[in-house]
Amino acid sequence: MIQEFADLGSQFIWLSIPFSALSGWIFTSMEKIGEATENPFEGSANDIPITAMSRNIEIDLLEIINEPHQLKPIKAINSILTYKRIIHFAKIFKNNEEWIASKLKSNPDYFKELSKGQTPEVLYIGCSDSRVTAEDLMGAMPGEVFIHRNVANMVISIDLNAMSVINYAVRHLKVKHIIICGHYECGGVKASLQQSDLGILNPWLRNIRDVYRIHKDELNAIANEQDRFDRLVELNVQEQAINVIKTAVVQEAYRDRGITVSGWVFNIRTGKLIDLNIDFPKVLEDIMQIYRLI
Ligand SMILES: [Zn+2]
Repeated sequence: MIQEFADLGSQFIWLSIPFSALSGWIFTSMEKIGEATENPFEGSANDIPITAMSRNIEIDLLEIINEPHQLKPIKAINSILTYKRIIHFAKIFKNNEEWIASKLKSNPDYFKELSKGQTPEVLYIGCSDSRVTAEDLMGAMPGEVFIHRNVANMVISIDLNAMSVINYAVRHLKVKHIIICGHYECGGVKASLQQSDLGILNPWLRNIRDVYRIHKDELNAIANEQDRFDRLVELNVQEQAINVIKTAVVQEAYRDRGITVSGWVFNIRTGKLIDLNIDFPKVLEDIMQIYRLI
């Protein structure tokens, strides 16, 4: 056993971690974020058994991934176990084997069927943010949604990547619905609100600054900074949906088979998916005077 003592503020807290459990980990720091308790807490974080005199100690651990220089920080809160889990690089292929086994267990022909082709009805354009996992939040299965993700769910007319995805999804896969999905606490949108030179990200984020400029009267009237940030996320979704409508391929699919474009926001604070209820036919009518291509 090793004992770590920390005198943090007025309370004396002790923490005990079995030395053997620390193999592959480096214990770096401990921070008291709550009061010490009378009864020792026994629990674990990241499978490391912990005994502590407080239920609210924040522990910083570094997990050794592969090479000694590849260290990733882990923050563990002992009692509540709301520590940050990071994917262990060396375990990815093992996870994959387990995933294959679980799929085949429920359906021996799962991959045989999957390899036959795709006929998704939905094109989803979302943010690359690691917390906004498109399939998970929609409960979608492989083959059901064609997905494109980039920083801040942007649809930029000279972005060959996004334009190719839209073209392929609409013209070849013949999707019936296109969804632009943003999310609150979006780092890309937040960066656009700050005055800083972000190098190659400048021209990308400039497009979000343009959204701010278009809606600056509404946004500047919002006193609360968080509310203004949230509203910019929503308006950015709206403008990117409009950018989708500006493309010839979508205008053509609307005329020929009534494709729809929707704007959603994922509330990362509650998990709820919000439909911004963009009035697609009206938006189309409004912008067609300028953007009609077909
Ligand atoms: Zn984002």
